[in-house]
Amino acid sequence: MAEGYKAAAKRALAEQPHVRDSVTKATLHFNANRERAYGEVDAEAWRGWAAAVKRHLLGRLDEYLTEAESRLSAAGAQVHWAENAADAQKILDDLVERHGVRRVVKGKSMLSEEVEVNHHLERKGVEVFETDLGEYIIQLAGEPPSHIVGPAIHKGLEEIRALFHKKLGTRPDASPEELAAAARKVLREAFLTADMGISGANFVVAETGTVVLVENEGNIRLSTSAPRVHVALVGIEKLLPRAADLEVFLQLLARAATGQKIGTFVSLIQGPRRADEPDGPEELHVIFVDNGRSSVLADGEMYEALSCIRCGACLNACPVYRQTGGHAYGQVYSGPIGIVLTPGLKDPALAAELGYACSLCTACADVCPVRIPLPKQILAWRRRSVERGLAPAAEKLAFTGYAGMVTRPHFYKLGGKLLRLGRGLTGAPWLPVLGAWASGHGPLEPSPKSFREIWEEELGDE
Ligand code: SF4
Repeated sequence: MAEGYKAAAKRALAEQPHVRDSVTKATLHFNANRERAYGEVDAEAWRGWAAAVKRHLLGRLDEYLTEAESRLSAAGAQVHWAENAADAQKILDDLVERHGVRRVVKGKSMLSEEVEVNHHLERKGVEVFETDLGEYIIQLAGEPPSHIVGPAIHKGLEEIRALFHKKLGTRPDASPEELAAAARKVLREAFLTADMGISGANFVVAETGTVVLVENEGNIRLSTSAPRVHVALVGIEKLLPRAADLEVFLQLLARAATGQKIGTFVSLIQGPRRADEPDGPEELHVIFVDNGRSSVLADGEMYEALSCIRCGACLNACPVYRQTGGHAYGQVYSGPIGIVLTPGLKDPALAAELGYACSLCTACADVCPVRIPLPKQILAWRRRSVERGLAPAAEKLAFTGYAGMVTRPHFYKLGGKLLRLGRGLTGAPWLPVLGAWASGHGPLEPSPKSFREIWEEELGDE
């Protein structure tokens, strides 16, 4: 059985303190950049508008998907529909077989992680190269991404040096430039010899059938234009209604993700290579993937999570994510959006642990460019877990006792006195619900008097 969140988080904190350092450094940097970039525009107005566009889209998703299919087909793309990961793999298998594909170059795509494209193709004997530098690093390390935008942010320079020395033969003390050059050498050869390029899509414009890809390294542009066949894996929620919507969405995505005004490379792909064009793929295949999204859409409390544009801002703002990084969540999506999406896409039972990887500080809701009500949704998953009887018995007992105490003033007063007499809660074995919390905190120093006593003393005579 796979390790649950609690155990994985505990292990990460005990065994990999360097992960906390690397993730904290990177996310605080992303945070500061986002704050500055939001400050340059009327971010509140933009966020409100973007949220409304996405809500409108989700309310008519069937119509916009039909429109997108017809525009994509008119532009020469071939459209496929996959209900789940196995369907998407099957479509890929057919394409690989039909085109005799031996080598694939890939742009970063979280959906391809959901579909497990790499493992699946490699099992079929196809060589797969991740071409985003962060993705390439974790591919060499045999790890999944730990962040939506920065897949390798959990790794420090020394770790990457050691990895490249072992796998690519670079010097043990190679500079970052030497490491990048070593990766470039391998990937350049892969771009020139690959038979197929696989990408995700940041957006697909329904009105025009345009596949939109945003990146900073140029690797996606090469992956989608150099090989004979380009396959774009697209979640069904990734549509935008109109081309005019891009103006704000492209900026919001970049500002929220990295603090840039716009991504360094924005590719607007309108069908495969035309007869009079010198380059580009001979075939463009767009695979629309559901994989649980329809059930999230049908869930009145959760559907807004499908507005997500995968900027990673909620991960960067999350104090819980910052402690362990993304691997502890054990899922494709981590951080606040992972807590909300994963049980909906995969299995509601996963909320029983993931739902508690949250301090309810609400920082995620404050930064989300499409204003997804993440804290409200996380609370809803917790409520559902309790309703399904998945909450731990000790916690249930503790909260029943707590409710009984705080709704009876005399018990409440007595409880406060007892706690103060006990001089702190840390490590209190008789209060198991606080065990995990207490093990990471210093001793509590109770005030000699309760707020209530101070209040009565100060105001008693008035
Ligand atoms: S939920 Fe919002 S902040 Fe988090 S990744 Fe998605 S769009 Fe970005």
